[in-house]
Amino acid sequence: MEKVDITIIGAGVIGLAIAAEIARPDLSIFILEKNPSHGEGISSRNSEVIHGGMYYPEGSLKASLCVNGNKMLYDIAAKNNIPHKITGKLIVAVKPEEIEELERLHANGRKNGLTSTSIISKKQIAKIEPNVQAEAALYSPDTGIISVHDLMNYYLTKALNSKAQIVCHTKVVRIEKEPGRYRIFTHNAKSEIFEFSSAIVINAAGLESDTIANMAGGNYHLHYCKGDYCSLSGVKPGVVQRLIYPVPAKNRVGLGVHLTLDLNGRFKLGPDTTYIDRKEDYKVAPEKASDFYHSARKFLPFLKEENVHSDMSGIRPKLQGPNDDFRDFVIKEDAPGFINLVGIESPGLTASPAIALYVKAMLF
Ligand SMILES: Cc1cc2nc3c(=O)[nH]c(=O)nc-3n(C[C@H](O)[C@H](O)[C@H](O)COP(=O)(O)OP(=O)(O)OC[C@H]3O[C@@H](n4cnc5c(N)ncnc54)[C@H](O)[C@@H]3O)c2cc1C
Repeated sequence: MEKVDITIIGAGVIGLAIAAEIARPDLSIFILEKNPSHGEGISSRNSEVIHGGMYYPEGSLKASLCVNGNKMLYDIAAKNNIPHKITGKLIVAVKPEEIEELERLHANGRKNGLTSTSIISKKQIAKIEPNVQAEAALYSPDTGIISVHDLMNYYLTKALNSKAQIVCHTKVVRIEKEPGRYRIFTHNAKSEIFEFSSAIVINAAGLESDTIANMAGGNYHLHYCKGDYCSLSGVKPGVVQRLIYPVPAKNRVGLGVHLTLDLNGRFKLGPDTTYIDRKEDYKVAPEKASDFYHSARKFLPFLKEENVHSDMSGIRPKLQGPNDDFRDFVIKEDAPGFINLVGIESPGLTASPAIALYVKAMLF
């Protein structure tokens, strides 16, 4: 039976970032992906925002890996010509009573190591974003956007250049412990079984990371939380320059329906948050357009209902259930040589290079 040193399950931004960080010509590394190609899971359905890190509790992995990942990602993008833009972001208080929450977020960002954010007044907002209506805002100059597909291609190429191998159309269906190793059973597109053994397993299976962890004795349960998006048409390009977010809900299930830009300057609203039972239900109801219009109009007064159209969606792998408090990323060696990454929702993209370093430190 074939034997490898390390198996990474899942070729999304997390598995690929880890592969890029740990691959070396003297190690045999398999990256297994059930889909026909890499990067077709959660990583292909998100806002592509490089977050600052002001939302997450001090001391959490989400906070530290986001703040470090932000800097690392700009550096990687600049050095490797990965399309990105430092847009900046405003979290806006549309009512005076929301200003207190902005101050709390500002202070929280400071505790997480953010030094660049500031609270700006209505007058200052009018100067930099004349088409945004708000009483005050938390300004984050270090928030930006990145092409996640270019980033994933960069990570994959780096890993392959160091002799890692990617095997697509290969779904992990069973894992058995054997002395000092794990036996991994996979199905290919024709449901043929292939088995091999691996000294180390890294579970980066996104929406199925709980299932994979539980194959090796774990006890995880992910909730699926859908985020719908709406596209905008008929809005003047450049009418808003920065990403505009409302003050988030207290339980932080999501960040509230916000305005983001892509690298072509197109605007998007969303994502919202709806817990769902099925993992791969990406339909967006047409009535979402009206809901999003009413939410966003509070801070984007130029919007008209006919500008907003239902668009794509993504699904978050959440450890936090609908009525639960904050849950952190799980990045843990639950059994010897078996590292689980579970609940890697936002800011997973931002944190990806820092997560990769964190996992490397667990290995070597
Ligand atoms: C709506 C939404 C918006 C977001 N916006 C942002 C943002 O703006 N900024 C940010 O930093 N983060 C954001 N995120 C979070 C970010 O997208 C995720 O944290 C990140 O993409 C997770 O990557 P992953 O590699 O863990 O998962 P995935 O990309 O899903 O990769 C996991 C891979 O594992 C494969 N797989 C699963 N099971 C098996 C199996 N049994 N065998 C083999 N392969 C398997 C899957 O096919 C998949 O390709 C957002 C997430 C969502 C849902």
